[in-house]
Amino acid sequence: MKPAPFRYLRPTSTEEACHSLARYGEEARILAGGQSLGAMLNMRLVTPRVLIDVNRVDGLAEIEVSGDTVVTGAVVRQADALADPRIRARIPLLAMALPHVGHYQTRNRGTLGGSVAHADPSAEVPLVLATLGGKVELRSAHRSRCINASDFFRSALVTTRAPDELIVALHWPAANSRTRHGFTEFSVRGGDYAIVAAACLVEDDANGRLVRVRLGYGGCGEMPQVLETSEAVGRLLDDALADHLARDAAERIACRSDLQASAEYRRHLAVVLGQEVLNAAKRTEARA
Ligand code: FAD
Repeated sequence: MKPAPFRYLRPTSTEEACHSLARYGEEARILAGGQSLGAMLNMRLVTPRVLIDVNRVDGLAEIEVSGDTVVTGAVVRQADALADPRIRARIPLLAMALPHVGHYQTRNRGTLGGSVAHADPSAEVPLVLATLGGKVELRSAHRSRCINASDFFRSALVTTRAPDELIVALHWPAANSRTRHGFTEFSVRGGDYAIVAAACLVEDDANGRLVRVRLGYGGCGEMPQVLETSEAVGRLLDDALADHLARDAAERIACRSDLQASAEYRRHLAVVLGQEVLNAAKRTEARA
């Protein structure tokens, strides 16, 4: 099939893109890497009257490290982020997750902002942003706002982005010398969407005692689910604690059934993958 007819706009500035979004609102769709929208257009799952191509908007493909935050422009390609030494050094969890996002062909075009805007329940980029406690920066012709990832995702493919808002950047809390991470997922084939994905952020004090443990799950429910547990604070992360935390988290998250897996199977995977990421973080030497 082919897309329904649409008017194609190619703004070169954020102002121009926001002006078009203000004018066309719900009748417009933003085109970024096209790796999700392309198929939806061809299958006529969406039939926008206007397509606003943001691939040439100035400033949306930048990566900027400012203090303890890394800011990635919405059109930063997944492949470029994966290859960027600043991402590997300051957002190691994203660098761990990106190889699981589709295939290298799709990552060459797919963008970080598009993945967050699309909000597939199994998508890795939204899961990492939520697990790290990151933010989504949005702009419209009338306002700018920065909202927590945990408040951005509402359900499968549904976010709190207003129809006239453009995602312009993602704000990622940078790793520090006391943070360690783990990421893994289970999918039928490499490159497929995850049936369950798990991510963790572990932070400890100078004595190796836990200060913070955040466990995130993708693919289980309708959106990324992140749990922060305080009961582990002050303890050492050993096998028994990793096992307990993963079991406790798996009990607390929502798990859905679909053609790929039952809720019970997803919950079982959440225990196993949760243990895996916590043990991976445990094995990672605290950053010098
Ligand atoms: P587009 O497809 O251009 O847009 C996606 C949606 O977001 C559209 O609704 C669009 O209007 C909106 N949008 C895009 N940018 C903005 C913006 N700046 N502001 C507001 N709205 C915006 N993804 C995974 O996470 N994991 C996978 O395993 C995976 N496997 C894949 C396998 C294949 C074969 C393919 C083709 C895709 C796969 N994807 C996977 C999807 C891929 O990662 C997409 O790149 C991503 O979901 C969307 O990014 P995009 O830049 O291509 O956005």
